[in-house]
Amino acid sequence: MTSNHLYVPESAMAIVAHPDDVAFGCSGTLAKWAKGGARIACVLCSSGDVGIASEGMTKAEAARIRETEEQAADKIIGAAEVVFLRQPDGMLEATMELRKRLVREIRRFRPEVVITGDPTLVWAGENYINHPDHRAAASAALDAIFPAAGQPNLFDELAAEGLTAHKVRKVYCNNWREGDTWESIDETIELKVASLKAHQSQMGDWDVDKNIRQWAAERAKGKGMQYAELFRVVTLESDEDWAKWKGVVVGRK
Ligand SMILES: [Zn+2]
Repeated sequence: MTSNHLYVPESAMAIVAHPDDVAFGCSGTLAKWAKGGARIACVLCSSGDVGIASEGMTKAEAARIRETEEQAADKIIGAAEVVFLRQPDGMLEATMELRKRLVREIRRFRPEVVITGDPTLVWAGENYINHPDHRAAASAALDAIFPAAGQPNLFDELAAEGLTAHKVRKVYCNNWREGDTWESIDETIELKVASLKAHQSQMGDWDVDKNIRQWAAERAKGKGMQYAELFRVVTLESDEDWAKWKGVVVGRK
């Protein structure tokens, strides 16, 4: 069990299923890292096109609204890039095609850390089943991270485009309830709340301020911080290996 106050990666990429998943799961941590100088990218597998249930709403219009909200939310947390893969909302599957598209984004942006969900999370409390899109996005992301993105001879057509192998150093998995690393978001709770409020089509009458602060405070309990986001962290490349690998990789700027 660790509480991680100090680590700021050089770059981080969040890979999620829907607009607002970043805001709920990891916006406080990403905002903190952005303040610390990290380059941040958010990759959205779907644009949430079935997520607005008002009369006369088309999928195309919903996707347009939700992409605009995501861009506003990610700007608030200091993300440099937002990428929309535009897979159909509610039907996301961890296919080889999706894995390859995620490998493309990882090799292009070359993140030190990737944040994604926990594909094993099904039961998330007494009144919520984790959305199948969340599981599919997380599963595709983990399979893209390891070993695919780091294998030069896998998807070698990407290498032909100059997208050479990239090894992600750490994976942060969001599971909301279980984890081993508490990231303090004391300094960025306001940005997290603001990024959630940017998703106007999703928040309705929900009291964002009260609920988000309450959840983040519950997670921080006993950890010497006021507000926290919780992750399970896997370190794929040690400090030594990371430095060595960065030094020898071909095609890295
Ligand atoms: Zn979602």
